[in-house]
Amino acid sequence: MFVDIAKIHLKAGNGGDGAVSFHREKYVAAGGPDGGDGGRGGDIVFVADRNLSTLADFRYKRKYTAENGENGKAGRGSGKSANDLIIRVPEGTLIKDAEDGRIIADISESTPTVIAKGGKGGWGNTHFATPTRQVPRFAKRGAEGEELDVTLELKLLADVGLIGFPNVGKSTLISVVSEAKPKIANYHFTTLTPVLGVVRMGEGSSFVMADIPGLIEGAGEGVGLGHEFLRHVERCRLLLHVLDVSGSEGRDPVEDFEKINRELSVYSKELSGRPQIVVGNKCDLCDEAQVARVREFFESKGYAFFPVMAAIAEGTGELVNYVAARLQKLPPVKRFEAEPKPKEDLLKPQKRTFNIRVCEGVYIVEDAPWLLEIMNDINPDDYESLQYFERVLRSSGIIDALKKSGISEGDTVSVYEVEFDYVE
Ligand code: GDP
Ligand code: MG
Repeated sequence: MFVDIAKIHLKAGNGGDGAVSFHREKYVAAGGPDGGDGGRGGDIVFVADRNLSTLADFRYKRKYTAENGENGKAGRGSGKSANDLIIRVPEGTLIKDAEDGRIIADISESTPTVIAKGGKGGWGNTHFATPTRQVPRFAKRGAEGEELDVTLELKLLADVGLIGFPNVGKSTLISVVSEAKPKIANYHFTTLTPVLGVVRMGEGSSFVMADIPGLIEGAGEGVGLGHEFLRHVERCRLLLHVLDVSGSEGRDPVEDFEKINRELSVYSKELSGRPQIVVGNKCDLCDEAQVARVREFFESKGYAFFPVMAAIAEGTGELVNYVAARLQKLPPVKRFEAEPKPKEDLLKPQKRTFNIRVCEGVYIVEDAPWLLEIMNDINPDDYESLQYFERVLRSSGIIDALKKSGISEGDTVSVYEVEFDYVE
């Protein structure tokens, strides 16, 4: 089954915890701190793979978890960083945030893209080998790996898209001009899967053509088959609008053309403005006067018109040459830009709430997720950074609250697994 949309859950690896020998340091006179750093958690990385053509694999496996970093060890041993988790997707897959629909990445090139970042490893307490009394003695936990739901959406990478009513000969056309071998049959909707074919031309002017299932009336509003396939021609630089010029099924080619274009504009204004070349197929089924009438109509509207007999590859050579020449003058295949995260969270004045709980003589600061965020950026080796942390504790009122709770010199304060001695 062809699958071109899927929702999956990603969880990057957590960083390993820094090793702590806080207690040894406290009670064993000569034993200095020797805990190593935790390893980095694995990233989740997406890579475009030309050999894949559907997102079918993602229907069965929906949860993707990268490994956690190893914890730091005693004896200054650093924990091993975890391997990244590589996820292969077809070229042209868009990754969107499942919550707000914003585009996170367009996986169209060979460069791997990190979508969920692994957590940093925690600092081992080796970093506090020369603590001064003014410096809080940290022992840090590994940071959490990013976790998010994403929607994968395949939008094929093709230069040229075939559009038109069912049964007008689109699949036949792609099969005679490229190596693609789509199913061809004399009934509607034989094409259920978009098909890509490379049209081989000399000297770097080869191009990729996409055949999608035919559009029907109402498809633009999601009624019936067709609408869902339009995403596969969204990136195309040029559309070939295929018509049954003979009207062999009792429809009028000009009416067909207008109906399809109405569907296109319902789906996307941008797509309906894409340049179109009109291909009048099945010329063998009508007389020349009919072909001339149709040609005149389209040429008077400024369209290039090509009469063909796709079934016997008559006229297709001229068509393909013209398309290659037109493509030279058109902008490259559309790439989607990543959309930035909404900024509103940052603009909101931070509510620096917290709670203090005293447990077995340790003063625990909790319910302060904002503080945890700040702490993740603190480098305990850096004096400035620690000064900043101290200022945060003061300005947020935590120091005052500790005093109120009855803290005294030398008592232990614990903030999200980081422990330090209280100094007046
Ligand atoms: P699609 O639905 O647009 O992909 O159309 P197909 O390529 O599957 O073709 C539908 C039918 O039209 C098939 O039976 C083809 O053999 C036939 N057909 C395609 N091109 C021509 C042509 O030039 N002349 C005639 N008479 N029939 C054709
Ligand atoms: Mg077809």
